Amino acid sequence: MRCPFCSAMETKVIDSRLANEGDMVRRRRECTSCGERFTTFESPELVLPRLVKRDGSRVPFDEAKLRSGMLRALEKRPVKTEEIESAVLRIKRKLRATGDREVPTELLGNLVMNELRDLDDVAYVRFASVYLSFQDVQAFKEEIDRLEKLPSAEEKSQQIPLLPETDDK
Ligand SMILES: [Zn+2]
Repeated sequence: MRCPFCSAMETKVIDSRLANEGDMVRRRRECTSCGERFTTFESPELVLPRLVKRDGSRVPFDEAKLRSGMLRALEKRPVKTEEIESAVLRIKRKLRATGDREVPTELLGNLVMNELRDLDDVAYVRFASVYLSFQDVQAFKEEIDRLEKLPSAEEKSQQIPLLPETDDK
């Protein structure tokens, strides 16, 4: 794999381990030219169902779009990137598990909401307010009422200190 720092073609793998519950291989690589290290993630490319929109049009599943939608909801929230990646993987796994060649976009929306609800209440409300406002205002109101009775995600997360980034260079 080409070095992202100096573009040399020769890099060697110095560490390899499973990530995201075994769905990915994480490889630590070192450039034999400039000595810089970087990490790659490898996952199998499996076919995901196409999405059927409400107007009946079909679009391919777009992982980048899914991730950016979740990241927008999670902006400035205390959620680790790793946790978001695990959520993305679980959503893809569930989409594949349907065994269908196409699924309604509502299914994807519901999967995203379920994951965000577990990750962060604020992100969940942000996403749900955009997503649900077009289909089910009452369900959204009930969800807000439910969340107001729970301790906030901030209170929960403050008990967990963030680990500093380690650099093994
Ligand atoms: Zn290099």
